[in-house]
Amino acid sequence: MHPHQKPPGTLRLGDKWLKFVGEGAANTIWAVHFVEDSGGDTFTRDLRPLCQGYLLRILKALSDGSDSHFTAKDQLAFFENTVLPAFGNQRSLFVDQKLVHLRQDVIDECNLLLTQMDENQKASTQDQPLPHPHLPSRTRKFVGTRVGPAGWHMLTEDMRPRGPLERFAEIKPKWLAQSPAAPSTALLCRNCAVATQRFTEAPEGQKPSKSDPAKYGCPLRLVAGPGPAPENHITHNGNGLPAQNGNGNGNHVSNGHAEKNGTNGSKKKDDDDWKAHAERIFRGQDPRDSHFLFWSIRQHHLLPHLRNLQNRLAGPGCADAFWASSRDDPDPDLLLSMTLRDCSLFFRYEARPHGALRMLDFKLADLDRKVAAKVPRWQDTERQLVEGGWYEGKQKQAQAGSGEMFLPRCYLREVQEAGSEPDFDAIPVDMTKLKDVSSLGLP
Ligand SMILES: [Zn+2]
Repeated sequence: MHPHQKPPGTLRLGDKWLKFVGEGAANTIWAVHFVEDSGGDTFTRDLRPLCQGYLLRILKALSDGSDSHFTAKDQLAFFENTVLPAFGNQRSLFVDQKLVHLRQDVIDECNLLLTQMDENQKASTQDQPLPHPHLPSRTRKFVGTRVGPAGWHMLTEDMRPRGPLERFAEIKPKWLAQSPAAPSTALLCRNCAVATQRFTEAPEGQKPSKSDPAKYGCPLRLVAGPGPAPENHITHNGNGLPAQNGNGNGNHVSNGHAEKNGTNGSKKKDDDDWKAHAERIFRGQDPRDSHFLFWSIRQHHLLPHLRNLQNRLAGPGCADAFWASSRDDPDPDLLLSMTLRDCSLFFRYEARPHGALRMLDFKLADLDRKVAAKVPRWQDTERQLVEGGWYEGKQKQAQAGSGEMFLPRCYLREVQEAGSEPDFDAIPVDMTKLKDVSSLGLP
């Protein structure tokens, strides 16, 4: 896009435009577009180089009755002092972040755009034409939320495609081990239990498709169970050419779990299985891309390490500490573990003209410090999951209609149906291979 051309979905703000990229409960993400060669005032001249390759991450304003939250400065200190050391101080594992000071005019501009996106959302629910067709419609649950105040916010590394060959993918690895509150008779992991509950309890017509048990991808598959066998690597052999069967690089992560390599029949089934799991976890990607992404991330030790951390801080052996925590006296390990269960994993990869896929980089993001005020809510969620029988797949079927309730293809369930015990022991991890750069297309 020519820099003088007004991009769709943005409004001019002095000599820069803001384009809405996305939002969560606590933050909004914006791309900043500068008018070429505008120079601008001192503020703009300072901001321009800071924004190169970064997105604005602007905190939402607190509404009445909401939880307090941490400032951008608090979040950066938490990352530097607590998160980074837990990963051997390897910065390359995380999207880069830096503080940026925002004036009121930027905040006002964002809030104007959010107001117009709210109006779009209202019109779309009434089947009316969008009043601001150049802007997206907002997700219903975020309507009414605004950003602010002016002051310190964050710039976060832009992982979006940087060229026509590049692609982007994002997943939330979530709870990579079982919840400390889950009963020993659990058939489902925390993720699969929550997804089933959300989908079943939502009224007809408002079922969240991402929680649909028939399509839900169990995140435990990212670290456990049969994965892609070395001879079935999808692509990437260092020179960007598609790898043929038997041409894999052989550095498959075994994760300390038995890999099934029995008869041809069971191997074929494992093959089909891991591809199906990959497509569920990387929903929204092309199936071939999802196989590639699933295979790729299992070549590195990052997610096994993330699971070990979640386990050590607040895993199945930490039930007492979980229930004893309170808003006033929270277990700090629990707070950190909840941060690690709520992070995102971004992938940048490229599709070469002849079809080969190549991983360029992957990074964790959204490692936000959690407020202790959330402890009672976490305990409530667990209480509902346990008392409702959601972990055990015993939930009432009335809300889901007649017939057998469909359960997700949870890793825990398959392990138990095969007559084995789920294994929550630490996975052997080589800290030098959290991200094995030799297999990436990094410069
Ligand atoms: Zn599961």
